Amino acid sequence: MRGLILTTLIITALILLVRELSKLLRKQAVPVPGQTPDAQLLKRPGKGGSPSDPVVVESASVIEAHAVGQDCAACASPVSVEDHRAERRGERRLRVVEVKCRHCARRQLLYFTIRTSAG
Ligand SMILES: [Zn+2]
Repeated sequence: MRGLILTTLIITALILLVRELSKLLRKQAVPVPGQTPDAQLLKRPGKGGSPSDPVVVESASVIEAHAVGQDCAACASPVSVEDHRAERRGERRLRVVEVKCRHCARRQLLYFTIRTSAG
């Protein structure tokens, strides 16, 4: 009898533990607004998908239009621009556009560089 009560208590404790752990994991999966961990970002293959291979544009004004013209790398659905910022990588100035898929909500970074008259 004592063994049965003990077993029941242990099983109950384990169920509660699993429930709390899954709650915790679900909480972590929710993206924090304004803060995108790199792990959630989908790596985009090809031109513009990495800082070392940015898309070269003539002017900053065409960057967002170019970005929304790209499809989601995961499901090929249209994307929308979430963020557009300037970054410096060594000597290079980059424009980084964060896009979000309108279908699967995956985020991707697109890298651009503006061609200067000096070359
Ligand atoms: Zn998608």
